[in-house]
Amino acid sequence: MSAGPDDRRIGALCREARARLVAAGVETAALDARLLVAAAAGVEPVVPLTDPDRELTDEELARALSHIARRLAGEPVGRILGLREFWGLTFALSCDVLEPRPDTERLVEAVLDWCAGAQGREHPYRFADLGTGSGAIAIALLSELPNAVAVATDMAPGALATARDNAVRNGVGERFLPCLGDFASMLAPGMDFLVSNPPYISLTEESQLSREVRDHDPRAALFAGEDGLDAYRVILPQTRALLGRFAPLFLEIGASQAGAVSEMARSAGLEDIQVFQDLAGQDRVVRAACVAK
Ligand code: GLN
Repeated sequence: MSAGPDDRRIGALCREARARLVAAGVETAALDARLLVAAAAGVEPVVPLTDPDRELTDEELARALSHIARRLAGEPVGRILGLREFWGLTFALSCDVLEPRPDTERLVEAVLDWCAGAQGREHPYRFADLGTGSGAIAIALLSELPNAVAVATDMAPGALATARDNAVRNGVGERFLPCLGDFASMLAPGMDFLVSNPPYISLTEESQLSREVRDHDPRAALFAGEDGLDAYRVILPQTRALLGRFAPLFLEIGASQAGAVSEMARSAGLEDIQVFQDLAGQDRVVRAACVAK
């Protein structure tokens, strides 16, 4: 991107960056341009709209140009900035963690809806987030459940370190217990609920993924065998022993997996199986409870 005198104004820079991103086929070009240029200038993303004539310094301009070049090369905004918003909170990303997705907010909502009808939000719930990654789900829930405690498991030590930092950054560090291991394998019984967004993409879908996902999210966080169900095969048999009577398990699923995952939950001895849709109308969450104990 050339940088003539006019380009120093944040509004003009955003427009030029947007045009370059549109030409490269980036669907969210306008938003990406604004987020990247604003971050380079150290201002809120709204500033290019409210104060378009603000000029960037040499250093800010260099940073903005580097951000745009990286985005043009296929790197997602969250990876470039090292930060991502989820549930209105800010999460740091590292190479060991999946970028939290808006779809996963449906999972958080499903849990909170259940809490509202169970013991209410003030109850001192003890729950586990299996495969916590950035910690997004557990931390979002802790931010809404002021007396809850979360055990957050992950197989990747790097992910747990990132998740822990995110818990502290969002003010819930004292109620967030990181735990190294394979989903629920190391947990003790007595959980009020379990929640997980495990890897669920099938290896056959790999070629259909965008380069933003394929080249920048960790493989271990994306793929779960030939049919995408391998993680559920590990998690579901582990859960019944951990849940108290009527305690539920909430799983995020791929849009075509509701039938298979419901069936696996039934085989694992769980009942009262329900499927919830996301805003796009796609099946997104399976809830199953341990009814008979
Ligand atoms: N639980 C984390 C999230 O939803 C990580 C999920 C994963 O790595 N598959 O963001």
